Amino acid sequence: MHNTKIFKVYPSLNTNLPIIPERSVLYSLEPIGVGTPYCESLTSYLTRLSYEHGVSIDKLLSLNDFFTHYEKEPYPNNRHGVINHLIGMYDNLRAVNGIGKQAQTLVNCLEKLTGQNNLSYLTLLTWSEITCHRKLFKVYKSWCPRCFQEWKLQKELIYEPLIWFFQEAKICYKHQQILTNQCPYCSTNILLLSSSPGFCSKCSQWLGSLSNYELDSKEILKDEELSWQNYLIPSLQDLIAIAPSLLKSPDKYQFLTFIHVLLKSNNTLTKNQLAKVLGLSFTQLQAYYQDFCLPSLPSLISISHSTNISLVKMLTENHSEGLDKSYKITSFNKDYVKSNKKIGSYQKRKSRNKIIKALKNAITENPPPTLISVIKQLGYKNTSYFYYKFPELCHQITKRSKEYRHQLSLKNIENIQNEIEEIILYLHAQGIEPTINLLRSLMPKSGFLRHQPIREYILKLQKELGYFVND
Ligand SMILES: [Zn+2]
Ligand SMILES: [Zn+2]
Repeated sequence: MHNTKIFKVYPSLNTNLPIIPERSVLYSLEPIGVGTPYCESLTSYLTRLSYEHGVSIDKLLSLNDFFTHYEKEPYPNNRHGVINHLIGMYDNLRAVNGIGKQAQTLVNCLEKLTGQNNLSYLTLLTWSEITCHRKLFKVYKSWCPRCFQEWKLQKELIYEPLIWFFQEAKICYKHQQILTNQCPYCSTNILLLSSSPGFCSKCSQWLGSLSNYELDSKEILKDEELSWQNYLIPSLQDLIAIAPSLLKSPDKYQFLTFIHVLLKSNNTLTKNQLAKVLGLSFTQLQAYYQDFCLPSLPSLISISHSTNISLVKMLTENHSEGLDKSYKITSFNKDYVKSNKKIGSYQKRKSRNKIIKALKNAITENPPPTLISVIKQLGYKNTSYFYYKFPELCHQITKRSKEYRHQLSLKNIENIQNEIEEIILYLHAQGIEPTINLLRSLMPKSGFLRHQPIREYILKLQKELGYFVND
């Protein structure tokens, strides 16, 4: 009898390749805040993406993988030409976050290469059918120093929200701060795409909060301008936030039906009166309802403001006349607002004239006063308002007082050098070596011995007298 060996049956090896999700050519960087009022801008995304790859934006965009995805038809058929057309020139730069072809081209390329599929919400492309193209966005960056600082402290990613770059946006709604557009260290205006979010393109300094360049919007803007900003910014932020949840992009008929219903609901008013109430000119209103042109964003927001219908509602809801919609305008207090405005601006002009007079006086005053002393006399504490409103005059005052202080310190140095020379020569004549320690004990105010020009002067004298000293 022989042993029958029983072999163990092992599970079989699966030789099918595992399913690997598609790889993206570029790092699949996630955009920040999509679907929120603080959604990132496409220019910010591009800068962060190029930073993550450790290359400049030009380098990134001239990658072969990028180039094959560009639509070359309207552009000159060379790499440099295409990139220049996309981001090289001023007006093209502002178009990157916008609603036109450049924004669309970049979104298409970036989506293919990063595998992200929501990059169009970093622009205003969703709303391209309902507003006209002119100057929607800024060319230079503007930012809220307090937002930057807050994100840094909370260790969040630093980026630039789309809302900051609208041509019309002057404040950060959250912090009620004026959006800054100049580096506080080197006064540079920073071009979009020229540096990483949060840093100056020229001096590389951090652009987060510094108390001397925080500008409270209440101090800077007139009341009516501030309340306009406080209506405009949330309206635009609503547009940005709602875009990803819309089933389709609204088209111009949306707005056309709205205007028709509005005209019909207010047929007791002449078109001229209605235009006035809406904050438009008669020609503008006519052009809109006859479908000659698309309204600008400020016009849309002005209409929304006067009708008390939110911008999003105006541009996304069904306004068909068949639905018996009625948008009766009830507020006719525009004249009242206007007369109030006049009083307010008269008072502001009066105090403005007083400030200008004081600043001009300071320029001829001798000895030249510092800016802070001038504004203290006017009853203010913070110089930022003055730098914002009267930059030329302020810079002249600061320049004069700086030069004056510089001259003073030069004169001081000369006096001290003379004094030191006298002591050193006296000690030398007595046969005593004039060491720094000895000088320190002999001179009543010895703090200046630490200053470089004084140290050099002493060293020179010691050497001239034949003492051996280390440099
Ligand atoms: Zn802010
Ligand atoms: Zn700078």
